[in-house]
This record gives sequence, structure tokens and C-alpha cells, in this order.
Amino acid sequence: MIAHYDIIIIGTGAGGGTMAHALSSSDARILILERGDFVPQEEENWNPEEVWKKLRYRVKERWLDEQGREWTPYTHYGVGGNTKFWGSVLYRLRRTDFEAVEHADGLSPAWPIDYETLAPFYDRAERLYHVRGQSGFDPTEPPRGPFPYAPVPHSAGMAEIVEKLRHQGLHPSPLPLGLLRPGEADGCILCNTCNSFACKIHAKSEADVCCIRPAIKRPNVTLWTNACARRLITDPSGARIEAVEVERNGETVRVAGSLVVVSCGAVNSAALLLRSKNDKHPDGLANSSGLVGKRYMAHLATMMQGFHPFRRNSTVFQKTVAINDFYFRGPDTTYPLGQLQSQGRTHGVMAQTAYPWIPLWPYEQWVARGVDWLAMSEDLPRLANRVIVERDGRIRLSYRPNNLAPHRMLVAEAKRILRRLGFWVVMTHSHGSTNTTHQCGTLCFGTSSRDSVLDPYCRSHDIQNLFVIDASFFPSSAAVNPGLTIAAQALRAADHIMDTDLGQKEPR
Ligand SMILES: Cc1cc2nc3c(=O)[nH]c(=O)nc-3n(C[C@H](O)[C@H](O)[C@H](O)COP(=O)(O)OP(=O)(O)OC[C@H]3O[C@@H](n4cnc5c(N)ncnc54)[C@H](O)[C@@H]3O)c2cc1C
Ligand code: SF4
Repeated sequence: MIAHYDIIIIGTGAGGGTMAHALSSSDARILILERGDFVPQEEENWNPEEVWKKLRYRVKERWLDEQGREWTPYTHYGVGGNTKFWGSVLYRLRRTDFEAVEHADGLSPAWPIDYETLAPFYDRAERLYHVRGQSGFDPTEPPRGPFPYAPVPHSAGMAEIVEKLRHQGLHPSPLPLGLLRPGEADGCILCNTCNSFACKIHAKSEADVCCIRPAIKRPNVTLWTNACARRLITDPSGARIEAVEVERNGETVRVAGSLVVVSCGAVNSAALLLRSKNDKHPDGLANSSGLVGKRYMAHLATMMQGFHPFRRNSTVFQKTVAINDFYFRGPDTTYPLGQLQSQGRTHGVMAQTAYPWIPLWPYEQWVARGVDWLAMSEDLPRLANRVIVERDGRIRLSYRPNNLAPHRMLVAEAKRILRRLGFWVVMTHSHGSTNTTHQCGTLCFGTSSRDSVLDPYCRSHDIQNLFVIDASFFPSSAAVNPGLTIAAQALRAADHIMDTDLGQKEPR
């Protein structure tokens, strides 16, 4: 054992980064473990060839699918986790997302907390991540006050599209975006390499910049990078976590902690608990429900591009509009369909990854005349969709997407809308089950230890000094981007830890 800390946080993404920031103001001695390194600020951050062809920042490890075939997940290890590469679209869940909702393929289960419980923490998360938006336009918006920052204005091209969408009877609304100081000298320059790229000038609201860097300035917070948590070690009774076994710089060390917060992302957090099995927990830690790793969800996502051969798209920052008219129900069905968002500009190199044998120039011509959109729908929790750890320690992700019919309806409706906007052709592309960007749900929270892994504050039902705060706690995936909800729940759990475990009502 090389040291003892009051709190060990494993992972620095939306969950772990936000948690570290919130707890850094306590008296607790905190160790943050991150398996990756800081993402360097370099020219390559904004180079589509490096990011999309050479996959410079993606994980190198390979996972197995249901049939045992290898594949590379779309995820990143490093300080800030996936938030470093996110599009920074920072949505609150809709009020009904917290309730049980009937979908075409079955029930989307209720959360153990309601929107009103999380609302004050959404307020705080929006301030922490500098969310810009404007309320009053989105028909699905839950009750809320004004956004902390003004919305990013639409480009001339997108403003024209918004007007035309209104003429179609739709209710386009400003996308809530986490961007730092756009228009100011050291702020966001609203470039066309944001979603899926790291921000070279650190102007994106993400967990490295907004949370980890400020947190590690405090004397009570230590960050170990290149430090991969391999196992959690319990005391002989199995009732508490005593230590974390960490692989660091080629060495395996044990570090002790009074409280452990696991925030490795939905797949890796489940894998860590499964890998940590011992004779008191033969099926993995915190697994008396048998649910650890199960109920994996990831959203159904289709990239869409409207194309007009004679209209060049001059917009640089395109990601400013959402269409939520089909979130609660479709035009021809009472079931929810999901959400449409305008997306960042596709680069030729990105489009070429779909069919790499076609030369780059036709793609360049195509994307110069295209406007990009994303159609996103909810997938439902299923026990068979799960994370498994193989005997050799490798991750197997068994996932068959469900609720496909409403997603197809949403894509068909989006095509109709885009054609009415005058686009001659609408192309679609989906990464299908290999898209792990919105992974969630593998350690769901709930009120009963029989049908959930974590309690409503994300504390393990089984192991009192273990919390899991990342996308794993989601009982349902909803159909908006998950990041802000993870951050809000992290702030809520941090307050709870301060009150109950640290006995510290007020931060220092
Ligand atoms: C390209 C892209 C675009 C996205 N766009 C959006 C968006 O616009 N809006 C939105 O809300 N969401 C978006 N997302 C999703 C969002 O990034 C994730 O939902 C969010 O980051 C998940 O947070 P998390 O804490 O669960 O995990 P992560 O952010 O993935 O963090 C997990 C951390 O744990 C570390 N880790 C893993 N295993 C270990 C271990 N054993 N030991 C030590 N460290 C470990 C990882 O390195 C990582 O730092 C996007 C994701 C991607 C990839
Ligand atoms: S400058 Fe702004 S738009 Fe460009 S990557 Fe950074 S945060 Fe995103």
C-alpha cells in the first residue's frame, strides 16, 4: 500500500471530472486516477485527417462483440474523457424522461428521481459548463429559468433554414451549447472542427478545462495520469472497498481510500466491478441484483446530410438548431420518435470513412454543398444488452439495438423536412451498434437493491463506501445528449457525500 486518501475518484470525464471539481472545495484529501494522459494542445487537434483517418486520439484497445469479433469502440481515454471530444450540446432531460413512457418497443422505465429534484443541479451544471441557450422556443423544454449565457447566434444560412422550418409549422429552437467566451479575445472562435475534435485553444466546455485543471490547483487534490484502475479490493468481510489496485508506469501499486468513486464510463465502470470479483462477491462487486453490466444503451443515431448541387454551404459553425417536434410523439404515431439537431460541418475525410475506396475529391465537392443533421432516438434497456469481461480480461459488449421502428420514422420525417427545404438529395449514415459515444445504463440507479445497482445518489446498495458517477446510472437513455445529466447528478451526489460521508455542510 503506498498511500491513503479520503476519496479516490477513478476517471476524469463528465462524471469523474465534475465530481472532482465539486469535492475539491472540501477538506478531503482526494486522489484522481486517470488511465490516459492530458490531450496535448497541438495542430493535429483540428486536423480531420489525423482525427478521422489516423484516429490519433481514439482508444487503441479492441473490444469483442456478441459473436466474439474484434472491433474498435468509438471512445477516448485521457484527462476529460469523452467530454474532450464532445460536441458540447448540453441538454437537460425532458420532464417525461424521468417518468415511465410507453415506446413502440416497450416501456422506458421511470427514474428514481424526478425532474424537479435534479433541476437545481442542472442550474449549477449549466453554470459550470458555461451553457448558452434561450428558453421559450423548445416545445419539450422542462420548466427552467433563463440560461446562464446567451445563445450562439445562427449563421446567415442557418437563420434562413430556421425561418423556413417555422414556415413548415415546426418549432426550431437554439441548441444549448457549452462554449467558453465566444467572440472574446481568448474565447471560442466558432470553428468547424468542434464535435469529435479536441479544442486546440481550450475554449470548449469540457471536464478537463472546466473541472480537472481548476480542481488540481487545490492542495488537497492529486491527479495521477496514465494510472489505470485494474481492481477494487474489499476488506475481508466484503462490506467496504479498502483499496484500488492501479497499473501506473508499468508498475502495479495499491492505494487505499476511505471512499471510492468509480467514473470510468458506462462500459469500463461495469467492467471494473466485474473484474473486481472476489470470494465475497463471486459475480463482481455491487452485484447482488445481478444487473452489473446489463441494460446497456447507446441511443439510435443517424447522420443526415441534405445536398443541393448549386448551393454552396458557407456556414462555418453550423451546430445551432434543434427540432424537438417529434420528441413526445410522431406525426403518424403516438410513440416518441426522438430529436433532430443540426451538426458540425462534415469534412471530406470524415465522409470518406464510410466508403474509403472512393477518392477524396467527390466527397469534398459533396460536403461543400451539404447541410448536416443528426437524428437521435431512445433505445430501451434490455438484460441481454450487456458488458461481459472475458477470462483474459477483455471487454465483450453484446448489444442489439432496439426500438428501431420509431427511429426509422424519425429519419423518414427528417428526409421529408430536408426535401421541403429544397435539398435535392438526403444522404444518411449510421455507425449502428459500434457507436459507443452515448453509452449508458450498465449500473442503473433505483430505490430497490433487487432491481438496481446504485441508490438514488449513485451509492452502491451493497458496498457503502462505493459510488459510481458516470453514464452508467441511467435507467433509460432518453433521446437528448447525456452529458449535462451526468454532470448534474455528479453535483447532486457530491453534495450528498459532503453532507453524509464528510460531514461537511459547507464547502471551504
Ligand atoms: C465524439 C463525441 C461527441 C459527443 N457529443 C456529445 C454532446 O454534444 N453532448 C453530450 O452531452 N454528450 C456527448 N457525447 C457523450 C459524452 O461525451 C459522454 O456521455 C460523457 O463524456 C460520458 O461521461 P462519463 O463520465 O460517463 O465517461 P467519460 O467521459 O468517457 O469518462 C470516463 C473516464 O474514465 C477513464 N477511465 C476508464 N477506465 C478507467 C480505469 N480503469 N482507470 C482509470 N481511468 C479510467 C477514461 O479515460 C475517461 O477519462 C459525445 C461523445 C463523443 C465521443
Ligand atoms: S474554438 Fe469553439 S467551436 Fe472551435 S473547437 Fe473550440 S470550442 Fe469548438
